[in-house]
Amino acid sequence: MNTPCPIISDYHMHTPLCGHASGEPRLYAERAVQAGIKEIGFSDHAPLFSHQDPTVAMNISQLPGYLQMIETVRNEFKGRLDVLIAIEADFIPGFEAQTRELLSDYPYDYVIGSVHFIEKWGFDNPIQLKEWDARDVNDVYREYFRLVRESALSGLFDILGHVDLVKKFGFIPTVDLSDEIEENARAFKQAGVAVEINTSGLHKPAQEIYPSLEHLKIYKKEGVPITFGSDAHKPEQVARDFAKGQQWALAAGYKEYVRFAKRAVIATVPLK
Ligand code: ZN
Ligand code: FE
Ligand code: FE
Ligand code: ZN
Repeated sequence: MNTPCPIISDYHMHTPLCGHASGEPRLYAERAVQAGIKEIGFSDHAPLFSHQDPTVAMNISQLPGYLQMIETVRNEFKGRLDVLIAIEADFIPGFEAQTRELLSDYPYDYVIGSVHFIEKWGFDNPIQLKEWDARDVNDVYREYFRLVRESALSGLFDILGHVDLVKKFGFIPTVDLSDEIEENARAFKQAGVAVEINTSGLHKPAQEIYPSLEHLKIYKKEGVPITFGSDAHKPEQVARDFAKGQQWALAAGYKEYVRFAKRAVIATVPLK
């Protein structure tokens, strides 16, 4: 990739600690430099409190090593690339207090809040795909959007990850859910969270950026800020499809995206 990247920040990438990503963090950083990115944030999956699964997230005992590993990369790349230290934490009702405590233990640059579970069901996990057959797709969508809304209002998170992840496998609702999205947009605005334009959806059965353009227009109308994330689980995926992400944001009416440090918006970047 030799054309300069239109977006200079990639805020969503993983490390091998989550059990389903590969490549050492410094390789992600190298790739970012090659792609013309100026700033990356590592946001590996935080330890889960609901249950443990070494193929989904790091264990609590691995968290100090994660932070140290990213700090090392940050020091190594000083002057070439800004490396932020973040985390992607699950929103699972009933575990808010433990999540809050975990997140307060370290001065993260930002925290991405994600919904990957409806109760115990990992609805975006290929291993649990057949559970979709036992469910009403419309109900799953409604429940998902309700959880995303609750995650915003929980106050635990700065950025919400892939806010229509429920579409990942291509199951489509048969009812109009725009009322849910309008309500989510108001909740996001009220909570002061940003939503992420996550380009990984292009490479999933849904074949579409998260969130959909229709939803993104609603968030824009409400004044919800955006960030960009590739959700890279391999070094070569850093900044993947960011030109498409930029076009998506522009098509929704966005003129800028935001940058974070120490859990606050510190700057806006124009989306030329
Ligand atoms: Zn992951
Ligand atoms: Fe995620
Ligand atoms: Fe992720
Ligand atoms: Zn993610």
